[in-house]
Amino acid sequence: MKANIPDAPVARRGFILILSSPSGAGKSTLTRLLSQNQELDLRLSVSATTRPKRPSEIDQVHYSFMDRQEFEALRDRDGFLEWAEVHGNLYGTPRAPVEKTLASGHDMVFDIDWQGTLQVVEKMKDDVVTVFILPPSMTELRNRLVRRAEDSPQVIDARLAAARDEIARWENYDYVLVNEDLDQSYNALLAIIAAERLKRRRQPALAQLVEALMQGPLPTA
Ligand code: ADP
Ligand code: 5GP
Repeated sequence: MKANIPDAPVARRGFILILSSPSGAGKSTLTRLLSQNQELDLRLSVSATTRPKRPSEIDQVHYSFMDRQEFEALRDRDGFLEWAEVHGNLYGTPRAPVEKTLASGHDMVFDIDWQGTLQVVEKMKDDVVTVFILPPSMTELRNRLVRRAEDSPQVIDARLAAARDEIARWENYDYVLVNEDLDQSYNALLAIIAAERLKRRRQPALAQLVEALMQGPLPTA
């Protein structure tokens, strides 16, 4: 006999929103805006890196900073969902929090490069939404790297030199934004998240409503 209690709501699995761009195009800024929007309730993935900490960064908040030996030990224990060498430093997404967060129905944001994106898409295709962020011009990209004032002139030159390798991967992404106006880019990301949440396969609870709509006599006027 069926117990006379309402069915528990059917939870949906979370998805991973990946943002990639050449350095300086604005993905950290956009990621921060998304994570500050409490209504969105997004979970940020905190990557591990061997890059030196920038003055404005906080360990375990912006990155988990570690030396190369520690990173490689974690990598060799299969501790990363994906990892890559970018601008001479190692970066990786710790595996453990990801499955737990998605299974609990929360969406996540990853700020990772194209190499990491390919690895995550390969492993978790149905769970991933990818967004590429283009700068309006190379001059503006350089200006933003300089204005950010967090890297040495040599590091800025190296990042600009690497920008075209990253931009060349734009065709692998689901969505592409030109980050000219920050508000517009942010609103475009909100639209993407809203649309992805409305995908039929992400609304398992609707099956119950549809079943109810299909049953019983049609109401008369
Ligand atoms: P990334 O994470 O892609 O390397 P950041 O988010 O750190 O880039 O942005 C680089 C710099 O450009 C920062 O100083 C940021 O405030 C600035 N910035 C980001 N988006 C815009 C925009 N649309 N217009 C002007 N400046 C921007
Ligand atoms: P930055 O040093 O400017 O914070 O990041 C440099 C590059 O590394 C960016 O393209 C950023 O998206 C990428 N990155 C940051 N974290 C990860 C990560 O966990 N995995 C991969 N593959 N790339 C990352």
